[in-house]
Amino acid sequence: MADFDFDLFVIGAGSGGVRASRVAAAHGAKVAVAEEHRVGGTCVIRGCVPKKMLVYGSHFAEDLHDAARYGWTLGETSFDWKVLRDNVNADVDRLEGLYQNTLDNNGVETFHERATVSGPNEVTLASGRKVTAGKILIATGAWPVVPDCPGAEYGITSNEVFHLDTFPKRVVIAGAGYIANEFAGIFHALGAKVTVVNRSDQILRGYDEQIRDRLFQISTQKGIEFIFNAAFEKVEKKADGSLCVHFKEHDQCDADLLLFAIGRTPKIDGLGLKEVGVEIDDKGAIVVDEDNRSSVSSIYAVGDVTNRVQLTPVAIREGQAFADTVFGNKPHRVDYDMIPSAVFSSPPMAGVGLTEQKAREQYGSVKVFTSDFRPMRNVLAGKTERSLYKLVVHSETDVVLGIHMISPDAPEILQAAAIAVKAGLTKAQFDQTIALHPSMAEELVLMK
Ligand code: NDP
Repeated sequence: MADFDFDLFVIGAGSGGVRASRVAAAHGAKVAVAEEHRVGGTCVIRGCVPKKMLVYGSHFAEDLHDAARYGWTLGETSFDWKVLRDNVNADVDRLEGLYQNTLDNNGVETFHERATVSGPNEVTLASGRKVTAGKILIATGAWPVVPDCPGAEYGITSNEVFHLDTFPKRVVIAGAGYIANEFAGIFHALGAKVTVVNRSDQILRGYDEQIRDRLFQISTQKGIEFIFNAAFEKVEKKADGSLCVHFKEHDQCDADLLLFAIGRTPKIDGLGLKEVGVEIDDKGAIVVDEDNRSSVSSIYAVGDVTNRVQLTPVAIREGQAFADTVFGNKPHRVDYDMIPSAVFSSPPMAGVGLTEQKAREQYGSVKVFTSDFRPMRNVLAGKTERSLYKLVVHSETDVVLGIHMISPDAPEILQAAAIAVKAGLTKAQFDQTIALHPSMAEELVLMK
């Protein structure tokens, strides 16, 4: 190890890279990290964190509306996008500083420039400087996909959406996955006319069908439009700066903003990985073994660049496991079973474990329990919007195989419930737990 400049060189200071860097350094390794954009990566700078703040911001629209039913008289209200945008971005700056402090305090050297792999133990920085390392960790994440159609450059992605100069009146969102549904909720609540356009005939493929159907129904009722089975033909920019989005076999749509949310692809372009013999799969992801090691024994990868599960907490666990295993003499592996996830749509969805469909494919017959209810808050507010909770249970063992929810606070509730599912508890054990009343979460132990 002494022959190298560093024990570990990490490319990418996002969630996975920062965790791996600081833990490896805490284990005594000499560590450097290179970041060409901003320390913190997608989640902190242009993803989960600012998105969640926009979700909070957008909720006030509904809360202010409901307030009257709760006896409040409000004066005239208005929304200023620039205030929200700038406050969110100021907090992102603060968090970036904290991430940088974490690296500095752990003795990790940061290079604020692009690095490429130029050998099994060598990286080349944008400045031309070559640095050697015993191990190289690729943690460059993923990048939004933009379709290949004329005028696609007029659209933006989630990378740019947090910096809009003006709030758009008409938004077309391409894709119907996580990002599309989250931003559909945000833009709609803040006053835009939203049209979601997807290539298939469904939203949020992979989520439980009943739960995503409920989101679709609520979203449509709110006034969000959906166009399915639509392929892009071209995007035109008009003289007034607005856009006209043309589809094959569908009417065109006028928009002030076109947001592409059609998936994210591993970010490996120009990193020099293929040249040094790192195996890349057909989706462009780095192939790694259970210990995050690539086909080149000194090169590892964690997070979205490996395209295993594109979620921040998974990247963090992978970074931790890598650092503990390689530098801490504490080998362990990430357990990918029962990973909870949420869509911060309006209302949010959350799920853990098998969907009803997957459980039936795996076990044949399963028991399904649902609770379809109107949250108390909505009742008093005079709103018809209903929540849906669902337990998927093994027919013979009574073990809860999955929980799926769409409801206010569903992500907050599901995180705790996921512990029970991960622990393999049975429906009877759920039922033995006395309800916490009055709450929405109590429905989880009251399903008959
Ligand atoms: P998703 O994979 O969630 O959804 C992609 C959507 O775009 C789908 O509706 C899909 O259609 C459609 N699509 C895929 N490829 C194309 C294409 N070539 N042309 C047109 N449409 C296409 O991607 P997102 O971009 O929303 O998010 C990326 C990832 O980031 C997520 O998978 C998730 O892992 C992560 N993420 C997680 C969040 C969270 O945890 N809350 C929030 C945001 C992102 P269909 O599948 O119907 O064919």
